[in-house]
Amino acid sequence: MSLPIFRIDDIGASTKAFEQYGNRWFRPFSNFGPLKRIPPFRMWGPYQELTADQWLVFLQIFREHHIVPIIAITATWVDENSHLIPFPEKFPDEANTLKQAADRHEIIIANHGLTHCVVGKHLPRPCSSNRSFHREFLPTLDQEVHTQHICASQKILETFFDRPIEMLVPPGNVWSIKTYHALQGTNIKKIMCSRHMVETHEEMEGVQFIDDHKGVVRFHDRELCLFGEPWLRRVITQAVSVGENSSRMEA
Ligand SMILES: [Zn+2]
Repeated sequence: MSLPIFRIDDIGASTKAFEQYGNRWFRPFSNFGPLKRIPPFRMWGPYQELTADQWLVFLQIFREHHIVPIIAITATWVDENSHLIPFPEKFPDEANTLKQAADRHEIIIANHGLTHCVVGKHLPRPCSSNRSFHREFLPTLDQEVHTQHICASQKILETFFDRPIEMLVPPGNVWSIKTYHALQGTNIKKIMCSRHMVETHEEMEGVQFIDDHKGVVRFHDRELCLFGEPWLRRVITQAVSVGENSSRMEA
């Protein structure tokens, strides 16, 4: 039986607080003022960062199913004043819980950017969506920005988790040839997401692109926060049953 890879994105990212836009069924009405923060108009944020106690429950569920999920962490929280607060400082209990799980080889840590957003353009707008600025590695940004964000995020994550971080999960599936150039000299050997770099499909040297359309169950901490343990158990049960069926077909 082949189980899919499980990946959870947006750990530590302030996108969960500041990416706010309305449900398309109610637009433009749903983008006005606080409406975009309230169900059923809300499409993304705000929602809460997971606590250490919540993680202990989710980690136990993964353990029961012998699943080692990839945990894609954004290395800093960007606050209202555009200050960058490293993940271990902003969420020490959560960070320590994940560190202990990584030390037990129960999770794999991936890099989900330094900020997840364009700093300074990340705050909610009065009457429109800010979604396009909750992507980090936009091709329109200078090479220097790509390089600085990759290097700084790797430094924070590798120092705290005390291991090489070998996978990048670009926020919002957006990355550029500049991001690829920024990876040179780092420990990142894999980029996992739904789209290749914006500018070219050329082969990369020393970096493997993994298309997550197949064989990867990907979601965000948002689903865990909003729907909790029953939701995760249901997703795992479905993935296991699909895995069993495909194994039977292969056999
Ligand atoms: Zn993300």
